[in-house]
Amino acid sequence: MNNKVGLVYTEDFQLYNFGPSHPLRPLRLELTYSLMEKLELLNHQNIELIKPRMATQKEIELVHSHKYVEVVKKLSVNPDERGVKPYLYGLGPGDNPIFKKMYEASSLVCGASMEAAKKVWTEDEFPIAFNPAGGLHHAMTNKASGFCIFNDIAVALKYLKHLKPDIRIAYLDIDCHHGDGVQWIFYDDPNVLTISLHESGKFLFPGTGGVEETGEGEGKGYSLNFPLLPGTNNKLYLKIFKSCIPKILQAYQPDIIATQLGVDTHYNDPLTQLGVSIKLYKELAKLIKEYAKEYCNNHWLAFGGGGYLMTVVPRGWSLFLAEMLDVELSNSLPQHWIEEVEKKVRNETTPYKLYDDDHETALELLKYPELAQKLYGYVDSLIEMCQDKYLPALTKR
Ligand SMILES: [Zn+2]
Repeated sequence: MNNKVGLVYTEDFQLYNFGPSHPLRPLRLELTYSLMEKLELLNHQNIELIKPRMATQKEIELVHSHKYVEVVKKLSVNPDERGVKPYLYGLGPGDNPIFKKMYEASSLVCGASMEAAKKVWTEDEFPIAFNPAGGLHHAMTNKASGFCIFNDIAVALKYLKHLKPDIRIAYLDIDCHHGDGVQWIFYDDPNVLTISLHESGKFLFPGTGGVEETGEGEGKGYSLNFPLLPGTNNKLYLKIFKSCIPKILQAYQPDIIATQLGVDTHYNDPLTQLGVSIKLYKELAKLIKEYAKEYCNNHWLAFGGGGYLMTVVPRGWSLFLAEMLDVELSNSLPQHWIEEVEKKVRNETTPYKLYDDDHETALELLKYPELAQKLYGYVDSLIEMCQDKYLPALTKR
């Protein structure tokens, strides 16, 4: 049996656009699909391109309040409509500016993530599906947050629960920011285990994601957070990932793993301070695929996420897709894609390799032995805490 991969794609994803001065630029996705295509991943025999539909209002309301959805709808038609008090819903100048057709754009992302979920769960030959436009993990039930209007991940996971009410979902979020929206939406739900590795909320938006946030009620013990310190490099990241994630999955025994694959952990990302390189994404892709096979019956539902360098996002997600397809890529970039970057991207150095290494940040760290020692000690303390606190709570049930 061929293991096929569904990739959700439509040019209409470009509709999700907060304007030219906003960091979440639709160009990220345009360059991502372009690179995937030029690397010949999109004509691979095991890929199927899925054209998404918009989620219905009823589907969006599996997660979001009717009132909030109505507000988004109204503003979508008339962005100047102030009667609805957009600021009460996290909308307006700043992170989540109002734009025309924002309802359609956000519903399309939700529909796309649902299509991916459906593919993975209902079609045996498609154990993996990826929606790079998805991953809007900050949106809350009744408000927009952190560039996210509707929480496409939560909508897709609720949809999976609708297909199989007792399904066990392991949600793994590797975005640099805490996966707060998804965590709070499923905070009391033992059937959705949320795991987030992120830069500590002490230093970065949204400020949450401490180790004490472990769930409530029936869901106690099913929210796991790994807040990382600025400067964390590939080696440290992998140490914690490999020591903890497989054990957590083994203890939880999920039916499916859902991942938010934000690549804003990169050392050059303008919004964050972790110190990892694109090489890490290649290694994480391999590990997640392995874990999906070992612990989740191959079922892997993947979403995009953050990442604010137009030259990093396409390379990171192409490496994830390549791993999903079992394609080993050489460390070079197609000349046509390099030319496209030179034409469309300003303020970033043009890359010539598919992945970079974290030598620079690792060497930088060697200059500060005290900081290095602190980082290593801290990672060890997180691993120990997982062992002593997170795992026993999972296996107790
Ligand atoms: Zn992020």
